[in-house]
Amino acid sequence: METSDVIIGLEVHVQLNKLRTKLFCSCPLYYYDSEPNTHVCPVCLGLPGALPVINKEAVKAAIKIALALKAKVQPFTLFYRKNYFYPDLPKGFQISQYDFPLATGGYVIIEGENGEKKITLKRIHIEEDPGRLVYKGSITTAKYSLIDYNRSGVPLVEIVTDPVISSPKEARAFLNKLRIILEYLDVFDGSLEGAMRVDANISIKGGGRVEIKNISSFKGVERALTYEIQRQRNLIKRGLAIKRETRHFDEVNNITVSLRTKEEEQDYRYFPEPDLVPVRTEELVKEVEGTLPEMPEEKRDRLIKEYGISYDFAKVLVLDSKMADYFEIVAKKVNPKLAASWVVDVLRGELNYRGWNFDVCFKKFDPNDFAKLLKYFEEEKITEKGVVEVIRTKLDYGGSIDDIIKSKDLLAIKEEDKIIKICKRVIEENKKAVMDYKNGKKQALNYLVGQVMKITKGKVDPAETSKILRNLLESPA
Ligand code: ZN
Ligand code: MN
Repeated sequence: METSDVIIGLEVHVQLNKLRTKLFCSCPLYYYDSEPNTHVCPVCLGLPGALPVINKEAVKAAIKIALALKAKVQPFTLFYRKNYFYPDLPKGFQISQYDFPLATGGYVIIEGENGEKKITLKRIHIEEDPGRLVYKGSITTAKYSLIDYNRSGVPLVEIVTDPVISSPKEARAFLNKLRIILEYLDVFDGSLEGAMRVDANISIKGGGRVEIKNISSFKGVERALTYEIQRQRNLIKRGLAIKRETRHFDEVNNITVSLRTKEEEQDYRYFPEPDLVPVRTEELVKEVEGTLPEMPEEKRDRLIKEYGISYDFAKVLVLDSKMADYFEIVAKKVNPKLAASWVVDVLRGELNYRGWNFDVCFKKFDPNDFAKLLKYFEEEKITEKGVVEVIRTKLDYGGSIDDIIKSKDLLAIKEEDKIIKICKRVIEENKKAVMDYKNGKKQALNYLVGQVMKITKGKVDPAETSKILRNLLESPA
């Protein structure tokens, strides 16, 4: 086992963006396509005298996350005021948690560079999102900042890891896995802007801890950490000390820049929020426990057992619970191994190419129709090439499977007489390749098979065709 002198811990802010309302008021949460400052009220604008009321559904969603991550939900949890000034925080403090957080412990299993690795968690707590600063043009050239308070008060769950991550790549693997788990729980839509934001703490053994704030993409996290390791190593090489500080990741120039010396915990003057009562969680935990879905590893193991598919296919299928659902519908109607390879290797690729996920796929290509298409393939009514053609046409233009096959003339040529006739024609028209073959250049056969495929638009089986050609070429004229 390789040891590393790099120590990384992550704080991940997750928006509970599938809930109806904000954390402490009844403003509608879904603001992503709204005009600025239209989802606001006295509470989330921090007007004097306005009082927060906790959203029970948000607490339940956070508990669901904690349970799925195998964390220990505390029976008694408190809210605190975290005091600091920033224009996007109208109250002058953020309602968060401190002592008595919602949950402690837990873990996420990732595929590390040396097999599986358990990334342990320190704590999971609930807090409110601040508003959003908006700049006309770029942040460096804008003359002023605009503030949109639509995001103010959106429920966040903050997941804090132990400092056990040892490379930028591992950090990214952790985030990918966490996102998959959160999407399984149906409390989170990762495709929305700012849905998951990361603060990364990094130090090299012996040096000060540097925090990189508010990175909004996983690729960004990996790149920021890679840059930061290099920067810190260079300082060490020159005999300079690494200051404890907070830095910002500049995504355009791929560098981190110093923001301020790191604030200490006492700077925030945490104290219990007097306007909210403590929350007792026992009843809520009982309610939530029954709603936990099957998680990725459990699903993977079940798919292997139930359908006899390989570990590698199962591992990919569970990366998206919708993809696994799609597979299961198809696998009930055709050979599951065939279904797995077509869903994972072909359909998934065609969707990726179009920037779609399996949510879209369910709408564009009913899994029962997909099964029907694979059935035709199993029955050799259509060739591999034909199946791909149907998939592409169906995704791009819709229509029924049978109509596509008919209009594109994709039914496989099965009659051996017909294939032999075409093979004879190809032999006739490609004297040079035939000569090459007879002179011992065996790869000339592939060329001839290719010509038959071309004439039939891929409607013959290549192995079958190869056999016929060989027989024709080797039988005495
Ligand atoms: Zn509000
Ligand atoms: Mn936070």
